Amino acid sequence: MSYAFLNGEFMPLENAKVGVMTHALHYGTAIFEGIRGNWNPEDEKMFIFQPEQHYKRFLQGCKIMRIGVPYSPEELTEITTELVRKTGYKQDIYIRPLAFKGSERVAVLKLQDVDDSLVIFAIPFGAYLDLEAAANCCTSSWRRMSDYMIPPDAKISGLYVNGILAKTEATLAGFDEAILLTEEGYVSEGTGENIFIFNNGKLVTPGVYDNILKGITRDTVIDLARNELGIETVERHVRRSELYTADECFLTGTAAHLTPVGKIDNHLIGSGEIGELTKKLQNLYFDVIRGRNPKYLHLCKLV
Ligand code: PMP
Repeated sequence: MSYAFLNGEFMPLENAKVGVMTHALHYGTAIFEGIRGNWNPEDEKMFIFQPEQHYKRFLQGCKIMRIGVPYSPEELTEITTELVRKTGYKQDIYIRPLAFKGSERVAVLKLQDVDDSLVIFAIPFGAYLDLEAAANCCTSSWRRMSDYMIPPDAKISGLYVNGILAKTEATLAGFDEAILLTEEGYVSEGTGENIFIFNNGKLVTPGVYDNILKGITRDTVIDLARNELGIETVERHVRRSELYTADECFLTGTAAHLTPVGKIDNHLIGSGEIGELTKKLQNLYFDVIRGRNPKYLHLCKLV
């Protein structure tokens, strides 16, 4: 059964409600996270992947948005573990923490004048994008928000309108996912994923200066490529045309895991199927998040 932890209390998810005048509902004044619980069917165990890293990013976002959360990353991890234990789920789940401006006040007030709330809930969650068939992507006509508009390296709810407009445009045009460029025209990221290209034996991915959200999956993949395959990742500006000529391309994210990209703007990437390196990294990643690789067990919190 799905449970929520709302303002200090555990309750069935269906009982966790807020009013229609809630500030965050009107103005997007909230910070969220997306954390996965990965079920390991052989060992009948649930592993939460990198909860403390997620909560560190969460609290940094809360600092920017002046939302007080009375817990440390370690305490939030403990609360989350307890929440997941209560659900009793034996399948992959998604954990959504949301710290939000919870006052029922309809006005563009300064952030300090609006009270803070915290909810964390866990729901069953399978694949987000197809992990086998390579995704058909387009570059978006919407540009990724810049740091001087809304800080892009924080998961601020209001910021996600930018990605949702891009996702809507892309899927209505028959694509699976949109890739947003910066105002300067460099590649930034997907609507909920970071992007990598593999060309001439090198992995390349945009850096924070291209308005990405610095993904936890991105960091994990960079480590796995280096430590397990001896492949370094270069962080630099990526031009749109480099996407078209890459040998391989993939997206990374908590929801998307490691999703191969087969086409961008109707250009085939490599053969258009999942690339060899992408497949290797995907296999390594899946073993790590399901607690099957002892070397990386420290990244997984056993429930
Ligand atoms: N970019 C955006 C905009 C996202 O929402 C996400 C998902 N959190 C990512 C990248 C990937 O981040 P992570 O690997 O930490 O999930």
